[in-house]
Amino acid sequence: MFRSLFIALLILLSSGCLMPEGTAERGLDEEGDPLMIVATTSMIADLVREVGGDRVRVEGLMGPGIDPHTYQASEGDVSAMTQAHLILYNGLHLEGKMTDVFAQMRQRGLNVHAITEGIQPDQLLSSESFAGNHDPHIWFDPLLWQEAAYRVGELLAATDTLHAEIYRKRASTYADRLSALFAEARERLSAIPEGRRILITSHDAFGYFGRAFGIEVRGLQGMSTALEAGIADVREVADFVVEYRIPALFVESSISPRGIQAVQEAVRARGFEVRIGGTLHGDALGTPGSSAESYIGMFRSNVETIVANLSTLPQ
Ligand SMILES: [Zn+2]
Repeated sequence: MFRSLFIALLILLSSGCLMPEGTAERGLDEEGDPLMIVATTSMIADLVREVGGDRVRVEGLMGPGIDPHTYQASEGDVSAMTQAHLILYNGLHLEGKMTDVFAQMRQRGLNVHAITEGIQPDQLLSSESFAGNHDPHIWFDPLLWQEAAYRVGELLAATDTLHAEIYRKRASTYADRLSALFAEARERLSAIPEGRRILITSHDAFGYFGRAFGIEVRGLQGMSTALEAGIADVREVADFVVEYRIPALFVESSISPRGIQAVQEAVRARGFEVRIGGTLHGDALGTPGSSAESYIGMFRSNVETIVANLSTLPQ
């Protein structure tokens, strides 16, 4: 009885019926083979390395300074995806120009997933620029990024069932580090006095950050960077800066500083000085070897830049 059940199970396994969807094309041949994972943004690539450890080889498509809103997949990217055991992207329209590519990969039966799937809609902010959509920049709340970590753990576990417990354990350990990061950031940001807790950046990437840490945020360009800021946007933000005597504006590493520089000029024309307080990492991590090359390093670097510039009085 048990023996025949066992044989039936073996047949099912070998015929692929119990294999996770999509792994048929790029099967796991041997126990020791690492999982080949393609990730779109550098934040997701970092998350997969943390959760997957030695068991994964990760290819991140978007390097430092690359803007995911306007990124288009190259032939090389498509070929890397077809070789992968698992393809991970942010979703919520962050990779707005790659929607068709993901659909094609799915059609081919590949194992493609958005890391934001499964986050409860009531935890998401709505997008002001695109009615009916959600703000995709969830990594700016370490507690939402924690959910992404657990999700990546589950997706790795489903793709490589033999090592499922390793992935779940690593996801949980990393989630603890994200809790600690959240507490540390809250403590540091509490140094900014009430009334100066206003963050003005190139585009609306910091909505979740603002919600998590009680900071009002304002982006010059809206939630996607696909449209450039116009003269009216610059004027409106400049009036706001003068009215609230904001000491510093911030540029972002994946976006041209021109818009923020135009605001600084417009503020100067109104007889007030606002400085550019440095570069924040918005939609990409820092260069390899820099303190912002990992997600946690990037987050700390942003927090320090913001605290240093908003805690001081305007000139
Ligand atoms: Zn963005």
